[in-house]
Amino acid sequence: MNFNCVTECLDCGNRAQYTPTTPSCPECGSVWKEARYDYPALRRSLPDRIRERPFDMWRYRELLPIGNPLPSLSMGDGGTPLIKADNFGMMLGCPNLYIKDERQNPTSSFKDRQAALGVAALKEAGINEVVIASTGNVAIAYSAHAARAGIKVWAFLTSLVPPEKMREVAIYGAQVVKVTASYDQVKKVAAEFAQQRNLYLEAGARTIPSVEAMKTIAFEISEQLSELSSNNVKGKDNVLQYWRSPDWYFQSVSGGLGPLGVQKGFAELLQIGLTDRMPGMAIIQAEGCSPMVTAWKNGLDVAEPIASPRTHITTLATGDPGRTYSLLAQRIRSSGRGLFESVTDEETFRTIHILAKMEGLSIEPAAAVSFAGLIKLVRAGAIDPADTIVINCTGHTMPIEKMILGDGWSKNIAVPQYTVAETPQEGLLSAFNRISSDRYPKILVVDDLPDARRLIRRIFQSQGDFSIVEAKNGREAIELARLQLPDLIILDLMMPEIDGFGVLDVLKANPETAQIPVIVVTAKELTGEENELLRGRIHSLMQKGQFLSDEFMEEINTLVG
Ligand SMILES: [Zn+2]
Repeated sequence: MNFNCVTECLDCGNRAQYTPTTPSCPECGSVWKEARYDYPALRRSLPDRIRERPFDMWRYRELLPIGNPLPSLSMGDGGTPLIKADNFGMMLGCPNLYIKDERQNPTSSFKDRQAALGVAALKEAGINEVVIASTGNVAIAYSAHAARAGIKVWAFLTSLVPPEKMREVAIYGAQVVKVTASYDQVKKVAAEFAQQRNLYLEAGARTIPSVEAMKTIAFEISEQLSELSSNNVKGKDNVLQYWRSPDWYFQSVSGGLGPLGVQKGFAELLQIGLTDRMPGMAIIQAEGCSPMVTAWKNGLDVAEPIASPRTHITTLATGDPGRTYSLLAQRIRSSGRGLFESVTDEETFRTIHILAKMEGLSIEPAAAVSFAGLIKLVRAGAIDPADTIVINCTGHTMPIEKMILGDGWSKNIAVPQYTVAETPQEGLLSAFNRISSDRYPKILVVDDLPDARRLIRRIFQSQGDFSIVEAKNGREAIELARLQLPDLIILDLMMPEIDGFGVLDVLKANPETAQIPVIVVTAKELTGEENELLRGRIHSLMQKGQFLSDEFMEEINTLVG
């Protein structure tokens, strides 16, 4: 037990030494308490203490409600990489975009931090049985960590949780209790069960180690950003090295425990003096279950519960966030900056493809929600693109179901019969050739800047099956258009030698290429004279950076059939 950790009741302010066995306030009976530490002492001692420790979540043990983490229980929780998202960032026009890759935790989600600290605290207190309600990932993380500690888990899951997630919970030896009800109802059933049997209940935001574990995400991000930034500065007393909080922290949300803890982490760093400001918190929900977003947009302190969530993303289907929302909203308001936004399932599934194809990250829908939220907020101008943005990327990749991929996602290869004249390799090759990209719409991308061509190629490839041909100048463009007869030409105007206007002149003069639709892309405002030159000869005119809109992709699909 960390004897420097005291709990403070959020209702009466009573302070007491933290123990896992007293979940409610001894003074007023409230179950809403928060951990506090000796911040002035940590200001002096923390940086020196942690310097030599491994980069994992136990590095910050002075700020966690635990005495001595048991190395034998550790599965490598936390210490996940902060990955610069250059491609996705370029697509959005956000050059300072980072992904906190929480997939690299032991069971692939940020819930491993919650489970690791929760189980360590239980072990320290001699508790051998725990009851949890979950939409999947918490139960998986808890069951895995509890297995190592010899603690029995009762996992209450809604019947909507995908069967493969349920099976993963069970394989760690947990007792799965499948409840045909909404997640909010399942939580109540689990709480009653725990009370009847006098068992310890893991209750998310009301459980001290759960909130405290999430703080380590904020600590790691701030340390990692300070290492990446070149202008490190010494603190006021010339002892502390300043860490750096981002301008924005994005996370998709079900019950709200994650951002509540992360926000507390950033606030503690500020209080200790390790950082100099709070980041804006951007909290993203699935539209079919977004009680927090609705409450925030209506300026309410209490979220109206949603009885029956309408989203395929069951991991995020908390209909009643309860007091967690009120706490979050209040803290975000008082820190001056934050947003709640929702995205549709369709936007989310599209984003899964974009992330996989542009950054090589396969993520589950629950995590993709926050990325879809970023796209939406950047497009709406709510986020300054120059800001330093960190997104929490987490969750299991569940086996992708048909409804996510739609039709035609697979390419079927029938290996021809083996004959003496034809080696199997040649057979495979010819089969591959038959499904070559020739039958996909062909798009000629003309731009003298390699980065611009690559960006347009990536955008097309992340949105569908297109065959992309690139030309790096006007001369090449004319030649390729004549030889390959593309279905569409994306044309830059400002190029050395033959510019876009010159290319158009030649294309329109040749009957073979005159009918190919041309979309002109420009970085600058055109003059009246330039607009006149284009009139009637091009399909449309786009500003660079507009590519991401749905309207653009719809237009492309109509054009190329
Ligand atoms: Zn109290």
